[in-house]
Amino acid sequence: MNRHFSFEFSAPRSPEATEKLLQVHDRLQVCHPDFFSVTYGAGGSTKDGTRQAVLTINELGSNVAPHLSFGGDPPEKIEQLLHDYQNAGIKRVVALRGDIPSGQMTKMTYANELVSFIRDKTGDHFHIDVAAYPEIHPESTSVESDLMFFKNKVDAGADSAITQYFYNPDAYFRYLDACAALDINIPIVPGIMPITNYQGIVRFSKNCGAEIPRWILKHLESYEDDPESLKAFGLDAVTKLCHRLLEGGAPGLHFYTLNQSLPTIHIWRNLDL
Ligand code: FAD
Repeated sequence: MNRHFSFEFSAPRSPEATEKLLQVHDRLQVCHPDFFSVTYGAGGSTKDGTRQAVLTINELGSNVAPHLSFGGDPPEKIEQLLHDYQNAGIKRVVALRGDIPSGQMTKMTYANELVSFIRDKTGDHFHIDVAAYPEIHPESTSVESDLMFFKNKVDAGADSAITQYFYNPDAYFRYLDACAALDINIPIVPGIMPITNYQGIVRFSKNCGAEIPRWILKHLESYEDDPESLKAFGLDAVTKLCHRLLEGGAPGLHFYTLNQSLPTIHIWRNLDL
């Protein structure tokens, strides 16, 4: 099977952050990922940062996939952005509803509508990735509706999916079975979040609905004042997760790098890819 590996960057918010991101991009080149992706702040905070970073990474010769959402923007603006990417030779986008920072009041357009819009405006030019949630999206009212809305994105023209991160491989394999039962046949690539600190991963997981299994949480708690042991534990746990996913047939891995090179490179080396 032809497996795909990709690395995600968070959109930079300042020229200094862009500079740092490009250095991290250089260091990660040793892994030769199939593509890099750059997140998009649907609330508006990082839209220019995404565009700049994406175009620069593209000019440096790497395959790059911008994340994209309607947010509160008019369709003309999104169409223009798509054409800018298309004209730059970019071939892949990650289409999302996005999350608006709390306190802002913007009606969010569902990702399946964005997928339809991209297909309508640019035909088959882009390979479109969408998000998938093996542990169920936090706003979903049921497993069935979550799967149905995922299927809507596939039917609208998504080519593949990247999952929210998770630490329980059974959730992923069960999700694949449920998708297969609904005739969803696109590759669903697991999103991998390295574990490098305690507070950050707990806060982040609460917000996005990712479950940290109790045994992992308890180890992280016990290493809270011992960052080196925590990182060693996180590396071991996430490496084993990746091994299980690949052995079980996952069509690749998508690493949430959080704009750091070492956590991803260490896992990568352990996997001997
Ligand atoms: P959708 O697929 O539109 O689903 C959102 C929710 O609405 C789900 O609960 C779904 O079941 C439900 N739903 C869908 N359609 C309907 C309908 N017609 N009626 C009622 N309910 C419906 N966020 C960012 O802001 N920027 C990023 O760059 C970013 N990158 C991400 C990358 C990946 C790989 C992943 C997994 C997530 C990313 N996110 C990002 C987070 C994502 O935007 C949030 O999880 C968001 O809440 C949902 O986005 P979505 O595209 O999955 O939405």
